[in-house]
Amino acid sequence: MDALYTAFHQLLAQTSPYPLALDVVGAEGCHIHTRDGRRYLDLVAGLAVNNTGHRHPRVVQAIKDQVDRYLHVIPYGEFIQEPQVRFAERLTAVLPVGLDNVYFVNSGTEANEAALKLAKRITGRTGLVACHRSYHGSTHGSLSITGNEAKKYRNRPLLPDVRFITFNDPADIVQIDRHTAAVVVEPVQGDAGIRVPDTGWMQALRARCTEVGALLVFDEVQTGMGRTGKLFAFEHSGVVPDILVLGKALGGGLPIGAFVASRQHMRLLTHDPVLGHITTFGGHPLPCVAGLAALEVTLEEGLAENAARMGERFKRSLDHSGIKEVRGQGLMIAVELDDAELVQRVVKDLLEHGVLGFWFLSCPTAFRVAPPLTISADLVDHATSAIRAALDRITP
Ligand code: PLP
Repeated sequence: MDALYTAFHQLLAQTSPYPLALDVVGAEGCHIHTRDGRRYLDLVAGLAVNNTGHRHPRVVQAIKDQVDRYLHVIPYGEFIQEPQVRFAERLTAVLPVGLDNVYFVNSGTEANEAALKLAKRITGRTGLVACHRSYHGSTHGSLSITGNEAKKYRNRPLLPDVRFITFNDPADIVQIDRHTAAVVVEPVQGDAGIRVPDTGWMQALRARCTEVGALLVFDEVQTGMGRTGKLFAFEHSGVVPDILVLGKALGGGLPIGAFVASRQHMRLLTHDPVLGHITTFGGHPLPCVAGLAALEVTLEEGLAENAARMGERFKRSLDHSGIKEVRGQGLMIAVELDDAELVQRVVKDLLEHGVLGFWFLSCPTAFRVAPPLTISADLVDHATSAIRAALDRITP
């Protein structure tokens, strides 16, 4: 065991007893390099973060340029910081009318927390509706609307007044009523093992929310920024939320989250009481310039379109008797196997052969395929033949 490995285990809080513990020394495009000289094809992208690939030159340059100007100057909201303004400008330009005001925070879970607070202010109601098997983050509010009891039970009491409906089940929509402030939904469920809803269900959700005056909140922390083959997953159904929550890939590899709503709604955070949501580092200039560069790259290099094409290529090539199902949209894919133990063995075997896959929080029988959206056809073919070869070695 080398000293770094020992210190990693002794000094850093661990999130599980079995970290992968790859010792990273570099990352470029679709690959991660480790100290032992190995190179891994990254099918995880930092968990749907590195959509433009690791260290895209334009993102790196934008960060370097900003480092030479200024870093943190004051908590969010006080000073005019051009990186925030320019990023909000570009982001709202690609969003529908009504999603025209951006609040930058630090992470996906914080963006969800703030979205819940905003929804309560707008509606004057307290009821929250979310989906079984959802994941919205690890802080108390987001955990309250997360539909995974295994992650929740040690943390109670959580927020009261939360109801769960079944994702993609039209019959459950009646549970949304005049007591409901917000309905929070992932437009494609991620950690449930990639579940794509029917357009009809999304439309019915929208209609019911409008009917009873509840706000529709789309958590696009994982699906956003091109991952599903469109810039935002809600574009697949054309259903527009009242509040859009973003994170992960939003910062081009740097940490940032955001919630987007109408200016009229967002103004409610400024009074009664003032400072309705505050954050010291939210909208830090570095992730804002990185995020703006990443968004421009995504649009100019057609990365959402590439995600759609490469996603189809993955699905076509993942043909093996050991695979029960391949689900997904764009480059947000789950490969379902017979059982959880098999998944562990395949992910481990892939790692030994230089391909990094990963699991899901709420779906132990599948592993995820979510590479950078820059991935080429050659690398997709390399990945799919590696997966088929792993299954040949492992499945009977
Ligand atoms: N919402 C969704 C849909 C997510 O997938 C995640 C993280 O995986 C989060 C929220 C939480 O984001 P963060 O880890 O940045 O707090």
